[in-house]
Amino acid sequence: MPIGVYIRTAETRLKTSLSMKKQWKEGKRKNREAGWVHSENAKRKIGFASIRIWTGRKHTEETKRKMSIAAKKRFENPEERIKYIGENGPMFGKLPWNKDKKFPEFSEGNSSHWKGNNVGYYGLHQWVKKHLGHPRVCEHCDVAGNYETYSKQGKLVKRWNTHWANKSGEYKRELNDWLGLCHPCHMKFDHPDQT
Ligand SMILES: [Zn+2]
Repeated sequence: MPIGVYIRTAETRLKTSLSMKKQWKEGKRKNREAGWVHSENAKRKIGFASIRIWTGRKHTEETKRKMSIAAKKRFENPEERIKYIGENGPMFGKLPWNKDKKFPEFSEGNSSHWKGNNVGYYGLHQWVKKHLGHPRVCEHCDVAGNYETYSKQGKLVKRWNTHWANKSGEYKRELNDWLGLCHPCHMKFDHPDQT
């Protein structure tokens, strides 16, 4: 919170203090340096957010140069330098958050799904649906296309049970490049090695 933006009355100060104490009591805060104690799930989400932010982005040459100069400067000063070395380093004794974790969402061969956030990919699916509607049947197991209801975060959601899967993996804007599949068949189709 930027200092000076919020005017804190005695009352808000008291409230802040009480809620901080509560967080300490509940074990949500370890110490000032450690900040919030995130659940495993929260950490994962934060990790994804950072992948999302950094995927495909590059620092400009100018930024890289500045970063390099700043890093070198830090290391020229022996007092500063010692802060980053060995057990003083910020990562000492810690594992990188992504160490040994599997991210099927981002793994090879699945990168096209990662583009689920990409407007182009979403638009292409919309285009297929507009021209072909919902698949009437799963072309692999013959299950009939239908609405199914499932519970999502306590709410009932209706969803058509068959989707358009891309045959070539090239996501062509061609109607015959799409195949109607139910969810289990779609998974098998996209990941034949994982069955
Ligand atoms: Zn099927």
